[in-house]
Amino acid sequence: MRRGCPNQCEFCAVTTLHHKEERPLEKVFEEIQHISARKIFIYDQNLTWNMEYAKRFLQGLPGINKRWLANGTANMLGKDDEFLGLAKDAHLFCWFVGFESISQKSLNGAKKKTNKSEEFASVIQKVRSYGMILVGSFIFGFDEDTPDLFDDTLQAISDWGLEMAEFHILTPFPGTALYKRLKVDGRLLTEDWSKYTTTNVVFEPKNMSAKELYEGTRRVAKEYHSIPRIMKRSYNILETTKNPSLAYYVFQRNLRYRERYANQFNF
Ligand code: SF4
Repeated sequence: MRRGCPNQCEFCAVTTLHHKEERPLEKVFEEIQHISARKIFIYDQNLTWNMEYAKRFLQGLPGINKRWLANGTANMLGKDDEFLGLAKDAHLFCWFVGFESISQKSLNGAKKKTNKSEEFASVIQKVRSYGMILVGSFIFGFDEDTPDLFDDTLQAISDWGLEMAEFHILTPFPGTALYKRLKVDGRLLTEDWSKYTTTNVVFEPKNMSAKELYEGTRRVAKEYHSIPRIMKRSYNILETTKNPSLAYYVFQRNLRYRERYANQFNF
């Protein structure tokens, strides 16, 4: 739909790959009408970057018989009820949110200015109160991260009842501000791009060893995706939304994540 993002998170490759570009909405609507799938990801890197554009999109979305997912930032989702109402009416059922870290120090260090960790729990509750669900994305390995962050993260996302999550090892993709900084500081361990998958440690972490970073991320991905936890989260969604198809979606998507991480982290 659009390309780029006005934010400047240090690790993000989006701003390196794409200039900011907003496509005319008529063209977007036309394209969507030609998609036959009933469930789609309307891939705008950050649907919430320009709320005026995003609201026009939601209001003008033709009466397509589709359910869809989108990317949004925590700050905007947490404070705009009108936007969430429009999103629900437009059949958006799932938000992908880059929470990145529960540590505000780490968020500050990464220049993730859209995120206030103290607001995450209320953002999740607010989104869910509109009958929508979330996938949260987390990154480990920021300079401010310490080994206790792994357990703290597992605890926090369990307390929030976050239904789906991705876990990544910080990866300095070429062209990003992070890559330039780590390169200058001599902290890159390899420039074999095949290892830049977000499941390998390719740089020297600051406040833990490379092994601790790898093992900690692996452990969080494994424990979060244990079968009892997946069952519990799916049941909670059924209870809170009274929507069996949403609960089933959470269940089977968690199973897919479990399989993916089992392959990537070999557990
Ligand atoms: S808000 Fe998201 S898309 Fe935008 S720069 Fe930050 S990480 Fe990238």
